[in-house]
Amino acid sequence: MGNTNSGREQEIMSLLRDNIRNIVPYSTARDDCKVKMDIYLDANENPFDSGVNRYPSPHQPRLKNMLSALKKVPAENIFLGNGSDEPIDLIFRLFCPPGQSSMVQAVPTYGMYSVAAAINDVRVINAPLTSDFELDAADLLSRVEPDTRLIFLCSPNNPSGNLLDIEGIVKILDAFEGITVVDEAYIDFAGSDSVIKLLDRYPRLIVLQTLSKAWGMAGLRIGMAIADRCIVDIMSRVKYPYNISVLNQEKAEEVLSDPLSAADRVEELVRERKKLAEALSGLPDVKEVYPSDANFLLVRFMDKDRAFAELMKSGIIVRDRSSAYGCDGCLRITVGTPEENDRVVAVLGGMPVKSGSPSLAAGRKASIFRKTGETAVCVRLDLDNFRPPRIASGLHFLNHMLEQIGYHAHIALDVVCYGDVDVDDHHSVEDVAIALGDCLYSALGDKAGTGRYGFSLPMDEADASVLLDLGGRIDFQWNVPLSGNCVGDVSAQMFEHFFKSLSEHLKCNLHIKAQGRNDHHIIEGVFKAFARALRQAVSRVPGGNDVPSSKGWL
Ligand code: PMP
Repeated sequence: MGNTNSGREQEIMSLLRDNIRNIVPYSTARDDCKVKMDIYLDANENPFDSGVNRYPSPHQPRLKNMLSALKKVPAENIFLGNGSDEPIDLIFRLFCPPGQSSMVQAVPTYGMYSVAAAINDVRVINAPLTSDFELDAADLLSRVEPDTRLIFLCSPNNPSGNLLDIEGIVKILDAFEGITVVDEAYIDFAGSDSVIKLLDRYPRLIVLQTLSKAWGMAGLRIGMAIADRCIVDIMSRVKYPYNISVLNQEKAEEVLSDPLSAADRVEELVRERKKLAEALSGLPDVKEVYPSDANFLLVRFMDKDRAFAELMKSGIIVRDRSSAYGCDGCLRITVGTPEENDRVVAVLGGMPVKSGSPSLAAGRKASIFRKTGETAVCVRLDLDNFRPPRIASGLHFLNHMLEQIGYHAHIALDVVCYGDVDVDDHHSVEDVAIALGDCLYSALGDKAGTGRYGFSLPMDEADASVLLDLGGRIDFQWNVPLSGNCVGDVSAQMFEHFFKSLSEHLKCNLHIKAQGRNDHHIIEGVFKAFARALRQAVSRVPGGNDVPSSKGWL
């Protein structure tokens, strides 16, 4: 705004924390010596070439030049971080004296702003968006306090999906004397201009973008702050020197060199967003699908817990945003591939899912989602097709044991448990066993073609034997003396409880005996022997389709 360069710089300098203003950055000999050398003995690297034996460039010039061309801003206005989460944190560190400042955010919004504020001891002031998630600039400005250093706006907004009104943003930039951050993580899906064009007029504006979304590089962790060069300079001085690895820089350059393919995928996602929104709007359980300029939809359900559970049972995870301001009853659903979106609609519409679905396709497969006040457990299995197990129970030792079941029973087994392990392991162990038992029972169906029985095996100095009869009657016996209170992070007494709960829900006779000197070996032996017994019991008898009982049923 008619500001000279030094005027802009002074303005920004005056906003920085005192200790940051004159910070002396970590320097490298390569920074100090600008010419290319033949031999590099300055950084204590390993000289033998492995492709990654050298430190990466701390300034990422090639990557910045590519982004400069794509974003049409000079490279010196671009800061690159480890995801945009890094510049979010840096902005607090640059501008907010801990314990003496506040930030205002327009809610509901992306959760990292308040996490970064908490880490940096900055007070959070929430300014609500309207019931349609529109920006009310006057209301937001009225909440600014004397110690407010930052305003965070997210456009398109996460989780509501809509672009914020540009006039409101400009009003805030005109009135607020601190730093305004506009997070445009989803701007490429919006088909409208970035606020980057406002940077010339507003030196106190920082625009965040990321390679995680439209560019499909979330795994690389590369985010951008686009801002006045003075802000970019200071951020670069405060960041860790080598914040983006050699491999990540190279891979990002490779993907950025094919912007047309990326643009095609964005177009496809935008088409899919429209299709998905229309299909969801037509479902009886859906109250409202909010208009989206991003790659996700905020959807309000009549019963969001039921919708969430149905999706989870079918192996689909979405984000429950119902606790965010103004989002009660809402799930946030990312736009996936056309097939994934069809499945979401089919599951929520209560229609049979096409074959290929893990939950309903023919064969001995099943999935269970079980939620209580203490845990939410999802188990999926396929008795006829082995695939390496995918286990996340929240307990390391239980993970290891459940993996044994998958491998040694030779079945596909996925278990995810979100449990109250901060209290103790009891509910997670018990509820995983219950869900696993129910799921096995349901996958077995009428048990036609299956055998029954047991297995013993040595496990180093220990030995374990498991007898298993899937006949439908429950009898549980446990003779497994353990000497310690815990095995790994699981209480010793919970193993008996695990198998007891499992036998009750699988409706089986389960007799387990084991002995040894090392508790880990004993329990591992038990899980392996159980898995082997299960493998025998569920294996299809060659040529047999009958039920293995003289009664003709089990
Ligand atoms: N901003 C918003 C609004 C986001 O939703 C996200 C990620 N979900 C981020 C920033 C972080 O992105 P990155 O992967 O670049 O850290």
